[in-house]
Amino acid sequence: MTARVLVVDDILANVKLLQARLEAEYFEVLTAFNGHDAIEICQKQRVDVVLLDVMMPGLDGFEVCRRLKLSPQTLHIPVVMVTALDQTADKIQGLDAGADDFLTKPVDDIALVTRVKSLARLKMLNDEMLMRVTTSREMGLSDDDMLARVLADKPGRLLVVDDHPRSSSRVMSALTKVHEAYIEANPQAALMYLAEQPFDLLVTSLNLQNSDGLRLCSQVRSLDRTRHLPIVVMADPGDEARLLRGLDMGINDYLMRPVDRHELLARVKTQIKRKRFSDHLRNQIRESVELSVTDPLTGLHNRRYMERHLKTLIADAARTGRTLSVLIADIDHFKRVNDTYGHDAGDAVLKEFSDRFRRYTRGVDLACRLGGEEFLIIMPDTDKALARQVGERVRECVAVHPFKAGQNQDLWVTASVGLATWEGEGDTSEALFKRADTALYAAKRQGRNQVVAAAA
Ligand code: GH3
Ligand code: MG
Ligand code: MG
Repeated sequence: MTARVLVVDDILANVKLLQARLEAEYFEVLTAFNGHDAIEICQKQRVDVVLLDVMMPGLDGFEVCRRLKLSPQTLHIPVVMVTALDQTADKIQGLDAGADDFLTKPVDDIALVTRVKSLARLKMLNDEMLMRVTTSREMGLSDDDMLARVLADKPGRLLVVDDHPRSSSRVMSALTKVHEAYIEANPQAALMYLAEQPFDLLVTSLNLQNSDGLRLCSQVRSLDRTRHLPIVVMADPGDEARLLRGLDMGINDYLMRPVDRHELLARVKTQIKRKRFSDHLRNQIRESVELSVTDPLTGLHNRRYMERHLKTLIADAARTGRTLSVLIADIDHFKRVNDTYGHDAGDAVLKEFSDRFRRYTRGVDLACRLGGEEFLIIMPDTDKALARQVGERVRECVAVHPFKAGQNQDLWVTASVGLATWEGEGDTSEALFKRADTALYAAKRQGRNQVVAAAA
């Protein structure tokens, strides 16, 4: 991962030290020696993470952090406070100023790289989300409600796996003040809960008395249901080798015992936020895939999807020796509906028409809108006789009940139907479709509101 890290410290030697370590991990490093320069760099350039010294003459780290978090331009840049001493007062003040995490001098190598990576990932997701929101706005699709929900720091649902009585009660007392947290001592039971229920985060001890915390992490990463679940582990000093293995395995962050509650809450918050961002993006991708295969007005599949699907079904019929029929329905004199009652009334008729269409077809049938007031149903396992029954049913479901043209205005509508049945090996989807269309044309010519089946 490449990320741009801004290192801010008034002492040159400190800046050089962090810079060298970060560059060794292939991060791009920017530097500043006072608070004013740091803010200016954040405003003018892309910065993914800021490492901010607390004690600086002039603007101190807390003040710089507060100013960064106040400006809409820089508010999304994660800030790590670098404190000289492991002092609780500093952490509280840092959190108040909006800091995202902490590092204590002298800065430990694993901690530095883990924290920077974890926050840089969050920042990248955040940037991606902001770009999508901009695009949606430009396209007139407002996604703001959704975004606001994702951005809100709502409490998360957490599972803590720890069998150390004192450590676990400390951790739980800190977590339950903010989140919905559950404790479980047995990793196998934990894995079952995680697979069955929705959780935002797993916090697990690396050193369980009767089992291996790392094994649980690797199981969580390999199960489909839990693959994307963030994991924070609690480790003891001296555990560094296993911790590094865990980080390679995809653990998102860690805490050293004794666990500091402020660090715990900061890390949990970052991971939950990151999970919500990535879930949101994944959902959006799924939705846009759906959008590309469905018709927005009626919710039926669109023509592009139908063409692909018909080919698949024909290949399947050829393989299994089953039959297949298609039905095309076109509303009669629909232009008059628009001309008489307006385009909105026309749209309402199209929606109602699709609803009836859906209701009168089986689950295995695929209904789609070909365009305009033309619809198609692909009916697997359906021979000529059955297709004719369905065609008649569809014609009838349109003609026997009036549609609504306005508040109380009834509107009588009819449709013409063309049918064609797959003739076996050598018959293509294009030829099948063409025959149904020709049959439809015949139904129109013969007076509309009727069903015509194509001759083989
Ligand atoms: P026929 O019985 O021969 O099918 O006559 P028709 O008037 O139904 O057919 P024609 O193809 O002449 O006109 C179709 C009309 O459907 C014209 C077009 O304005 C209207 N139309 C197409 N798509 C939509 C839509 O999404 N909404 C509305 N309201 N009207 C649409
Ligand atoms: Mg028509
Ligand atoms: Mg037409």
